Amino acid sequence: MVKAEAVHKSFGPVEVLKGIDLEVAPREVFCIVGPSGSGKSTFLRCINHLEKINAGRLYVDGTLVGYREHGNKLYELRDREVAAQRRDIGMVFQRFNLFPHMTAVENVMEAPVLVKGETKAKAQKSARALLDRVGLGEKCDSYPAQLSGGQQQRVAIARALAMEPKLMLFDEPTSALDPELVGEVLDVMRDLAQDGMTMVVVTHEMGFAREVGDSLVFMDDGVVVESGNPRDVLNNPQHERTKSFLSKVL
Ligand code: ADP
Ligand code: MG
Repeated sequence: MVKAEAVHKSFGPVEVLKGIDLEVAPREVFCIVGPSGSGKSTFLRCINHLEKINAGRLYVDGTLVGYREHGNKLYELRDREVAAQRRDIGMVFQRFNLFPHMTAVENVMEAPVLVKGETKAKAQKSARALLDRVGLGEKCDSYPAQLSGGQQQRVAIARALAMEPKLMLFDEPTSALDPELVGEVLDVMRDLAQDGMTMVVVTHEMGFAREVGDSLVFMDDGVVVESGNPRDVLNNPQHERTKSFLSKVL
């Protein structure tokens, strides 16, 4: 579902991704862990066209991200083509980024109506079903300010799901939450995983990674230091940098 081959990304003179290689299989829960500044968010942003890579190849569902390949040359996609690629990818951020002036159900139905041209009636019906699925059937008509952080993040997940993505990206979805609200968001993510959604999850929740993750990579300083089954990497890290990081977070 995702394939990165020697992906490089720089901001000016600063190289942030120094050749990332990885593969995410369909239906896999793929966890990325690593210290702050190691390039985890940048990598997710490249998958979702929020950043352009400088070298290497990045594929989603077998299709090159942001470019068309012709012979040995790459041509940048047009905005419309980029928008079509992005439509299949849902992203959930650390901060929930809900529209404050819209109710939960309005937040969830916004993109299907605006981007997919669904009728309001149909979009609202699906939005209510999605909010029900994330345990917020009773909160459809609440505004973000009336919801807890955990509830807002669950609305954000429902909003991403409303576009029926084939891939979901999560960037530290529980890092901004009070500890007692983390579990309800992880529960929703666990359900999503059980339903077979392909998920790339940047997280510091090692319990979640161990229990729900199918694969895990440890990133540091723009490279993948080690990867494997989450239980193996977390229980028996091979590299000094991984050991040192895990000793601080576990
Ligand atoms: P992580 O998510 O692992 O904490 P990031 O991908 O956010 O790491 O950042 C990696 C590095 O890239 C950091 O040093 C950060 O300052 C830098 N960086 C990220 N985005 C930008 C940007 N738009 N412009 C310049 N530097 C950036
Ligand atoms: Mg980050």
